[in-house]
Amino acid sequence: MTNPTPAVRDRVLCLPPTELPAYVYDLAALRDHAAHVRAALPERAELYYAAKANPEPEILAALGPYVDGYEVSSGGELAHVAKAVPGRPLAFGGPGKTPDEIRAALAQGVERFHVESEHDLRMLAELARDTAPDTRVGVLLRFNLAVADGSLSGSSLAMGGRPTPFGLDPSQAPDTLRLLTDGTYPHLELRGIHAHLASGLDAPELLSVARSIVDWAMGLGVPLLEVNVGGGMAVDYTRPESRFDWQAYGAGLARLTDAHPELTLRIEPGRALTAYCGWYATEVLDVKHSHGEEFAVVRGGTHHLRTPATKGHDQPCSVLPVEQWPYPWPRPAAVGEHVSLTGQLCTPKDLLARGAHAPGLRAGDRVAFSLAGAYAWNISHHDFLMHPHPGLHFVG
Ligand SMILES: *Cc1c(COP(=O)(O)O)cnc(C)c1O
Repeated sequence: MTNPTPAVRDRVLCLPPTELPAYVYDLAALRDHAAHVRAALPERAELYYAAKANPEPEILAALGPYVDGYEVSSGGELAHVAKAVPGRPLAFGGPGKTPDEIRAALAQGVERFHVESEHDLRMLAELARDTAPDTRVGVLLRFNLAVADGSLSGSSLAMGGRPTPFGLDPSQAPDTLRLLTDGTYPHLELRGIHAHLASGLDAPELLSVARSIVDWAMGLGVPLLEVNVGGGMAVDYTRPESRFDWQAYGAGLARLTDAHPELTLRIEPGRALTAYCGWYATEVLDVKHSHGEEFAVVRGGTHHLRTPATKGHDQPCSVLPVEQWPYPWPRPAAVGEHVSLTGQLCTPKDLLARGAHAPGLRAGDRVAFSLAGAYAWNISHHDFLMHPHPGLHFVG
């Protein structure tokens, strides 16, 4: 599904140039994919969507039937998700929660807090006593675990298993667990352990991480109801046709839930749920030859789709040829097979794809960048150079 789906292609081709660039999301494709993911998971594995990957309200709502809840990591995400999908379970995590954010989450009735430090725990306990004295607030302690050697080696974004600001150090487990089990904090209920250690792992790697987390949690010697093994399922931008093996991952999780009948397992993917449902579509403004290479400058750029710049990859794309050329002079066109696609920003870093296979690409042709449904528009520096923002379209 890296070529635009027919619905996306139709939308891209019928937009006037002045309405490009545009993000076009195929919600039917998203629903199909989410249903496939859900079906691969065992019954006792819960699926939360990490909203930071793409928090568009239409995306959150389309995922609704297939997820058990949503993971939010800021007061802003909390308010936004609670409004977009009212009444759905939320887990509130993230380092550096402010007292105001915690108060807002308590007032919102958030079911689960992912506690990142002892200070975070003490603050939550104090505010829970004041804000929600009649309820017990669910707590999962997030730990930065060192997992079996090598299992994080494929990761592009390791957040654990090495020094990082995320989660508690495993050495703090005895003290924090004691605070939650000796009656110090009657307003808090220890529900379990949370660990999100890396992003960009394939199914065998991520299963080995999940097993390490569950084994470690079970060895703590306190009764636990839940273990959240995080997100991080790989999206391979260099092989856009290949997908994370949800079948194998689900089968592995089933072995884990079978081995621990008292435990609910939870995963919280972001990227691998939504990346495939979005395209950033635009038109070629100009084609240039420079020192033996060819460049196509497109309307828009990395200020809208920052993903290739942050991850250092070439964004996969396809060309949608347009035959009309409205000007009386010759149409700029590539003579070779490979063209680098750049944006309108005055910086050499505004590179969407190096040497893309686009033989004869012409000014006026359209280009749709795929895998643009996650960590794309919402992580980009929209106002750098003051170009207009892209339209957002939802089809399907
Ligand atoms: C970002 C994040 C996720 C989602 O990661 P993906 O790589 O998008 O699957 C899940 N949990 C936590 C705590 C995160 O920070």
